[in-house]
Amino acid sequence: ILKRIEETEEKLNAYITVNEKAEEEAKKKDEELTKLSEDEIPVLFGIPMSIKDNINVVGQKMTCASKMLKDFIAPYDATVIKKLREKGAIFIGKNNLDEFAMGSSTETSYFGVTHNPWDLERVPGGSSGGSAAAVAARSAIASLGSDTGGSIRQPCSLCGVVGIKPTYGRVSRYGLTAFASSLDQIGPITKNVEDNAFLLSLISGLDAKDATSAKLPVPDYTKTLDNNIKGLKAGLPKEYFIEGIEPEVKEKIMETVKHLESLGVEIEEISLPHTSYAVETYYIIAPAEASSNLGRFDGVRYTYRAENYTDLVDMYCKTRAEGFGNEVKRRIMIGTYTLSAGYYDAYYLKAQKVRTLIYQDFQKAFEKVDFIVTPVSPTTAFKIGEKTDDPIKMYLSDIFTIALNLAGLPGLSMPCGFDSKGLPVGIQLIGKAFDEETLYAVGYKLE
Ligand code: GLN
Repeated sequence: ILKRIEETEEKLNAYITVNEKAEEEAKKKDEELTKLSEDEIPVLFGIPMSIKDNINVVGQKMTCASKMLKDFIAPYDATVIKKLREKGAIFIGKNNLDEFAMGSSTETSYFGVTHNPWDLERVPGGSSGGSAAAVAARSAIASLGSDTGGSIRQPCSLCGVVGIKPTYGRVSRYGLTAFASSLDQIGPITKNVEDNAFLLSLISGLDAKDATSAKLPVPDYTKTLDNNIKGLKAGLPKEYFIEGIEPEVKEKIMETVKHLESLGVEIEEISLPHTSYAVETYYIIAPAEASSNLGRFDGVRYTYRAENYTDLVDMYCKTRAEGFGNEVKRRIMIGTYTLSAGYYDAYYLKAQKVRTLIYQDFQKAFEKVDFIVTPVSPTTAFKIGEKTDDPIKMYLSDIFTIALNLAGLPGLSMPCGFDSKGLPVGIQLIGKAFDEETLYAVGYKLE
């Protein structure tokens, strides 16, 4: 893998940091191996994993792709990392992302753009673009990403790999740099559904360090991959096949739907009427939470601090002005505005109410169907620079992924074909809360 990283990085820029000690760690594992009997070998023994650079891996840099944290060394392991380390994984490097995971193209990183391995002039999607590009280019076996509004699923779709945004509370967020705490979830990015199911089983579960992690047993998702899907009901939301979606994307989704029918799945049209408000609702709630979460980057506790300042307040201001990029500043300003006295009721509170309506839409739909099928992204990978001048255009890339985060539901993103340019198209399977099993069982049959 290290060799593959060397071969591909010049073109891709999928990594911010490569772990220099990885080879040494692997050699140590080789020695350990001689002392272990076969049934003592942990399931990930010696497997190199790469990790999105907003998750803490002790002793390695954790930059969030921001100047603000460019020299920050993680002081502890995130819970997901601790769990994988106990199973023997080696953490080979940290993947590029949009600064603080805010974006859909990995173009806002302080460390430069990541390129899509299918077409180097195009974006890999985002914000977990480095992770998805590395898995697609085989410079990673598997990676962990984070998803607040689509950041695992959309890059997986644009790079032709598999990713899941688990149910909110399935995976501990301890050690993930908070963007919007009521929406963030960590999930695996892999080459296929089986690897994904395997890794999700390993990282899930209740964690005393994250009060929002769910007190529910963790299934071994690989055991139910073969579950019968005949007779299951799939919903096709009519609001998701609207204008703006590329005809070729729609065509591939409909072909997959036919395939599902041939496997015995019943297809039913459903309605999620508040979908059209999902993007607006998200862009009030997520920036509001972000403006609060990012308050901690003040030049005192973390690595970056402005050099020339007159007093403490001036130091805060200059540090934040210099340390954050434009997109992050935009979010902090929107969030501060919508939370301020006088505007709170008009924006934040209203958005919370619409969030409930979006949740109820899904509840109602799941009275009739077992899972929902939609596109992941309205387009295949777009050109680098194509949407950077127009934040609204960029925000609309998440139109199919965002509602799930607001409702807390799981979504699996997996490849379902290619467009005529040879770019991968992805399909999204949305499940009931904590029913990742069904998504994996269906996804497994579609591969
Ligand atoms: N693209 C969305 C945003 O910019 C979602 C990001 C994410 O899921 N982290 O906020």
